[in-house]
Amino acid sequence: MTAAHLSAAVNLEHSAPVTRLRGIGPQLADRLARLGIHTLSDLLFHLPLRYQDRSRITPIGALRGGVPAVVDGRVELTETVFRRRRMLLVRISDGTGALTLRFFYFNLAQANALARGARLRCYGETRPGAVTLEMIHPEYRLLQEGVTPPDESVLTPIYPATEGIAQAKLRYLTDQALQLLETKAAPLPELLPPELLAESSMPALTEALRYVHRPPTDASMAALMDGSHPAQQRLAFEELLAHHLSLRQLRLAADRSHALVVGGAGRLPALFRSRLPFQLTRAQQRVTVEIFRDLGEPHPMMRLLQGDVGCGKTVVAALAALRCIEAGYQVALMAPTELLAEQHYRNFHRWFASLGIAPLWLSGRLKTGKRAQAITRLQSGAAPLVIGTHALFQDDVSFANLALVIIDEQHRFGVHQRLALRDKGAAADRHAHQLIMTATPIPRTLAMTAYADLDVSSIDELPPGRTPVKTVALSDTRRDEVVARVRHAGAQGRQVYWVCPLIQESEVLQCQAAEDTANALTAALPELHIGLLHGRLKPQQKDAIMAHFKAGHVQLLVATTVIEVGVDVPNASLMIIENAERLGLAQLHQLRGRVGRGSVESSCVMLYRAPLSSAARTRLEAMRSTNDGFEIARRDLELRGPGEMLGTRQAGELQLRIADLNRDAPLIPRVQRAAMLLLKQYPERVPLIVQRWLGDGGRYARA
Ligand code: ADP
Ligand code: MG
Repeated sequence: MTAAHLSAAVNLEHSAPVTRLRGIGPQLADRLARLGIHTLSDLLFHLPLRYQDRSRITPIGALRGGVPAVVDGRVELTETVFRRRRMLLVRISDGTGALTLRFFYFNLAQANALARGARLRCYGETRPGAVTLEMIHPEYRLLQEGVTPPDESVLTPIYPATEGIAQAKLRYLTDQALQLLETKAAPLPELLPPELLAESSMPALTEALRYVHRPPTDASMAALMDGSHPAQQRLAFEELLAHHLSLRQLRLAADRSHALVVGGAGRLPALFRSRLPFQLTRAQQRVTVEIFRDLGEPHPMMRLLQGDVGCGKTVVAALAALRCIEAGYQVALMAPTELLAEQHYRNFHRWFASLGIAPLWLSGRLKTGKRAQAITRLQSGAAPLVIGTHALFQDDVSFANLALVIIDEQHRFGVHQRLALRDKGAAADRHAHQLIMTATPIPRTLAMTAYADLDVSSIDELPPGRTPVKTVALSDTRRDEVVARVRHAGAQGRQVYWVCPLIQESEVLQCQAAEDTANALTAALPELHIGLLHGRLKPQQKDAIMAHFKAGHVQLLVATTVIEVGVDVPNASLMIIENAERLGLAQLHQLRGRVGRGSVESSCVMLYRAPLSSAARTRLEAMRSTNDGFEIARRDLELRGPGEMLGTRQAGELQLRIADLNRDAPLIPRVQRAAMLLLKQYPERVPLIVQRWLGDGGRYARA
């Protein structure tokens, strides 16, 4: 097919409505839409969850309990009985034995059709009944007299369904769609180049679809069930390729655009370094070199700086900022929460004071007058550095010469927001350099797919002198022991966090819970200074409490999860997490990361309410067994899947229909090679592949 043909075909693929098939009325169309099925291709990419082997008919006399089976039989007796509830009992027999079919939901027509003498083919799981074996609500169809239908020649697919759509209906519809595939009416053009298919001996698209929807009876059920069959892998491959290409396109566009070249002697960064009370770790030095090199390029840097909680990313960000400021440009640093942004503001204020640089503060809570002032200073270029929250995205915020955007804790933001901020530095064809920091270490495979537009720098080393945090899980029936532990820590001059995570839906209730806990602890520990921190306090109040805690005046800080990310008080060495069973691994790891920042031995107590679900047990066990953020992230990915791992905002963006990043990780290197081949030799197919899997233009590109 020529490029124009291909493009027309892909457009058609997206516009051919599923209602073209026979048997779809408005009601069914609605229900299909609920499954995300609007077009014929949506239907074809709606793959079975599992399969059943209905290819062999079992004599009733040979049935065993608990095993699904197909039987043919003739109705001997049909009766509606009342045993606590109304039910229809149908006894069938095939000469080798008798079987009872039991229905709780049925209508009169159905009962009439199942009259004595009717022939049936049933599929279901048998279990022992009062007199004979029985099947509860089997799937069945009536057989015509004298005609024995052929045995099933394919494995029966079971589709993800929703209320009101029967499996038989989905099979009927996919049968039609698969037939259409053979004709010209609904072409699903092959978008992978022939040499790629040949080299990796992958089946063609239509062949793979046909196989996955209707596998032959000798197909490997085990392979199909775990998604490793070549036909499934072929589809997952193309989907991953589409996501990868979409982000690569974004990156290529960035590479073609321009950015301020940030060079210079690096006097300010060097001065700053020389005044730090510590030496940079080797990893910090290495990533700084990588960042400085990027900043010196005429194209925008797009770099992810990842490193475990406490590895010291902020100092690296400060160095990058200073390099730009020295060159006479502006820098914006954005954090996901007010608290974290405030902390950065304070840090940078302190760090940069002796360099004569005062950061500007911009948050949503700024009073109108102050805000207007701040905006003017950014517009005129008078302010070299601004630190804030989402408020930096707002339309009326613009810069004189923004060179660098630093985003902390990226997993809280989506790709879209990242791009929106990047464009703040846009002037004509110019973009700001981007440095994105995350403490959620992203497993390599995930990084390569979800962040295919970014270069990655890793800080894989903690500053020296840190001792690993000792972690225990305790039932909350042992709260008294924990309180005693807090008392002991306080007596030794150590500082403690007591976190009350969200267990109520509303923020008000959550703050209330933290308040109650603070009151109870104040009563139990009169000798300690106790502070309370939650999201509903005024910024000045929060500020004051954090300052008291930092200064050591407050020994026990009771808080909601507002302290989850970034908060840095090195003297705090005991972390109590209530309702730990409700939290995900990433969140637990972040919270634990608030301690173990100094050289004192730190510990973390995860209080839980029994009984623990097995998933919760696995999480707490993972926390106990390792302090390594990468290992935690790997297990998190296993437990939760990539969507949740990237945060809710991004979950919607990296919504995989078929591929599974855990299962299909081994495909990623091939996906990368294929992406290169396509970009180089088949650039006209790139937007088509993206369109097929991500919709028009690619979801990211629209940002
Ligand atoms: P994160 O990477 O989690 O954002 P931070 O930047 O908050 O970590 O750093 C954690 C703590 O480690 C801070 O108190 C910081 O001053 C300190 N720190 C950073 N780098 C070093 C270093 N090279 N040696 C000692 N302490 C360091
Ligand atoms: Mg941080």
